[in-house]
Amino acid sequence: MSPELDAALFAADELLLAPDHLMLRTGPATGHAVYVAGGVFRDVGPADALAARHPRLTPLPLPGKLLMPGMIDAHHHLTQSFGKSLAYGEPSEIFRRVWVPLESSLDDEFVYMASKLAALESLRGGFTTVCDAGTRAPGDIGAVASAVQEAGLRCVLGLICNDGGNDSTPAERQAIRAHAERFLRQWSGARLVHPSLAISVPEAASDEMLAGVSALCAEALAVFQTHVNEHLASVERSVVQRGKRPLELLAQLGALGPQVLIAHGTLVTPSELMLLRDTDTAVSYNPVASQWKGNAVAPANLMAALGIRFGLGTDATRSDAFRLMDAAEAAQKLAFGLAIGDASSGGGWTWFDHATHEARAPWAWAT
Ligand SMILES: [Zn+2]
Repeated sequence: MSPELDAALFAADELLLAPDHLMLRTGPATGHAVYVAGGVFRDVGPADALAARHPRLTPLPLPGKLLMPGMIDAHHHLTQSFGKSLAYGEPSEIFRRVWVPLESSLDDEFVYMASKLAALESLRGGFTTVCDAGTRAPGDIGAVASAVQEAGLRCVLGLICNDGGNDSTPAERQAIRAHAERFLRQWSGARLVHPSLAISVPEAASDEMLAGVSALCAEALAVFQTHVNEHLASVERSVVQRGKRPLELLAQLGALGPQVLIAHGTLVTPSELMLLRDTDTAVSYNPVASQWKGNAVAPANLMAALGIRFGLGTDATRSDAFRLMDAAEAAQKLAFGLAIGDASSGGGWTWFDHATHEARAPWAWAT
């Protein structure tokens, strides 16, 4: 079939797809079909059974194809597209030298173009959902939303709520909070955009803002995102300024929970792993970011064994989901597996599961 013919066939509102292989939780299966209606997978099972349940539809054979869930990028920065070539080989805290100056210089048109490019790269790489950690560009975040919606990419869209730390004024805090509440309301119920609130790093916000933003997200069933325990410099800055490591600070403020997604978590102590587990806080494990600019690799294989929820994130590096899974496994093997003779380091399926269904928010199963 020509590509044009393919696109026309898939435009129908209802489809009964019969691929050669269908990726189930248990692995690839043959002789299965999928019923899709209104862009949503609504029924999956043996092809004969599905044809009997949906007799109005003619099965569409997909010879030579494997049908599988779209992958989830648990940590992205959609407006950093034009700085990607600068990221490799940078020492830690690249945000000071590259990301904040770059994003601060973007007008709405550049925000739109950078986001559109990132969204198309994500789709090409096998991602159908990305979690954007929030841009520091000064313009309207609606430009990011327009880009992902036009591309057809699902996006958990972070709004930055930094108030600068404990020296912020009550008026500043109130203005940020009001903006955050408006943002959550504005995008509530949108099909492809899921509003999320973000604080770049815990040190960039007051205690009140960290606790308040996390609580707002819990109430709205939204995701609260923050970069936590990524670099030694950041951990030490938090210890000096706040008397706690970033993750400990969030725990002390009651700001951890199922609504929270921490990015990186590469420098985590045994007690911090227990905090993540006991609060059901999620982590984005970003192996390529560790390769490109990290101090360490998140102990994701250990997190999996402990039942800590995590997804895989690109952190705006190459947007190739298959290479990301490969990096996830390889980084675990090099950082932890080799020293203890763990030849499988999670096996391929651990990283596939965490690139797909294990990366979903707990409340997403209800929708
Ligand atoms: Zn990041």
